[in-house]
Amino acid sequence: MSTAAPLLATPEQLALYEPVIGLEVHVQLGTRTKIFCACPNEFGAAPNTNVCPVCLGMPGALPVLNRAAVELGIRAALALHCEVRRRSVFARKNYFYPDLPKGYQISQYDQPLAEHGWVEIGTAQGRKRIGVRRLHLEDDAGKSTHEGYRDSDRYSYVDLNRTGAPLAEIVSEPDLRSAAEAYEYLTELKLAMQFAGVSNCDMEKGNLRCDANVSVRRRGTEQFGTKVEIKNLNSFRFLRQAIEFEISRQVALLEAGGTVVQETRLYNPDLDETFSMRSKEEAHDYRYFPEPDLLPLVVSDEWLEEIRRSMPEMPAEMRRRFVEQYGLREYDAQVLTGSRELADYFEGVVKACGDPRAAANWVSGDLAGLLKAEGFTVETCPVPPERLGELIVLVQKGELTGKLAKEILPKMFATRESARTIMEREGLRAMSDTGELERIVDEVIANNPKQVEQYRAGKTTVLQFFVGQVMKATRGQANPAAVAELLKQKL
Ligand code: ADP
Ligand code: MG
Ligand code: ZN
Repeated sequence: MSTAAPLLATPEQLALYEPVIGLEVHVQLGTRTKIFCACPNEFGAAPNTNVCPVCLGMPGALPVLNRAAVELGIRAALALHCEVRRRSVFARKNYFYPDLPKGYQISQYDQPLAEHGWVEIGTAQGRKRIGVRRLHLEDDAGKSTHEGYRDSDRYSYVDLNRTGAPLAEIVSEPDLRSAAEAYEYLTELKLAMQFAGVSNCDMEKGNLRCDANVSVRRRGTEQFGTKVEIKNLNSFRFLRQAIEFEISRQVALLEAGGTVVQETRLYNPDLDETFSMRSKEEAHDYRYFPEPDLLPLVVSDEWLEEIRRSMPEMPAEMRRRFVEQYGLREYDAQVLTGSRELADYFEGVVKACGDPRAAANWVSGDLAGLLKAEGFTVETCPVPPERLGELIVLVQKGELTGKLAKEILPKMFATRESARTIMEREGLRAMSDTGELERIVDEVIANNPKQVEQYRAGKTTVLQFFVGQVMKATRGQANPAAVAELLKQKL
């Protein structure tokens, strides 16, 4: 088995191969209760408190399908442009593991809830559609804990709170061609799930989990290479790193005359390597058969239509609209659709001020900075969108300079007052009295004879120095463009 092949490929070797990647993503559905029983579907409860005979797999306990889980599954399917089957079938996937008390997982096999969808991603070569082969519903397993207890050297513990939590498994076509594309795909999928209200996709809570199938083939050839499945990639960074390592490992192996074996591997972030978990020979035979305790799942046309009508605008469409309707740059549209709350906030500001560009700059600039610095999110932002819009209007009308407005926003954060209230209390307003401004300009010129000489000798960059001095003297209340104009005249 052991070849003396180098672990990683050289850039020249890598260039000869094309990676082929398909992702299997598990999304935990944000229902109130589990998929086949009434136990709470919640994270963080004391171990083994959210359990009942159904999810514990007691003999004779019967599952009842949670309609809310099906509805979220359908929403997920529609968000990914899938066709929803009117009739799908649950199946038993049999295997033994301590966190699976029933001895089988209830999943869907040959008749999944939905098929034939796609996710659009941005690549260096432009936009590209990644096929979604299928989306099916299943129940989650519990969690084994192998460390963290006093006697963890001898025992493992099992928490069954998660057992029976509702999952949608989303299987992509092998359409991804790099680790970066896989990263994009997962990002886009996560965003679609959040917009559609399917799941918060919190990776730290395990609400979004990903397995990556990776193979490589010689550039110019058709036939796919043998794939390796990397399981349990629980962060975006690890997904990218694990795929990159795996591509390199496979290319190095092939270039050294070896062959890739079909197997399941795990990623070790500390070593930045994947290692073998089990080979094909050790793979489970799941002995799938139709679940005898559940009827086939039938989705009526009416229900499907009702859900379709309640679907919100998806991030990709929203991005396109922001570019077309508001004239935003692609990049800004991307940033501002980073969450539905952020997009709604931005549109609230646009509505209040009528200037989408200014709204985009304020929201993705000063506001985003303050939110981060002060530990707020858009949802808990102390400045509602109408108030930020009002601040922008004050700048538009010349009552505030941009500089003053930038000073006022943090005060609005701190006091939760309107811009106008703060302006009035602190006597902040743009200087409209030109006589007063002229006096200050004259004074600054008189006080800086050396710089005046430099300017007159042709060193025009000194103008910025003068503008700065005047702004300082007016406490930022003058309009810098007007100051520069006035200075030019006087100098
Ligand atoms: P399996 O039967 O081993 O589960 P599937 O055909 O069901 O394999 O595919 C599982 C996942 O692997 C899918 O996401 C699919 O896109 C991906 N996949 C299939 N073949 C390859 C390949 N040769 N290279 C990379 N990914 C692949
Ligand atoms: Mg599979
Ligand atoms: Zn239960």
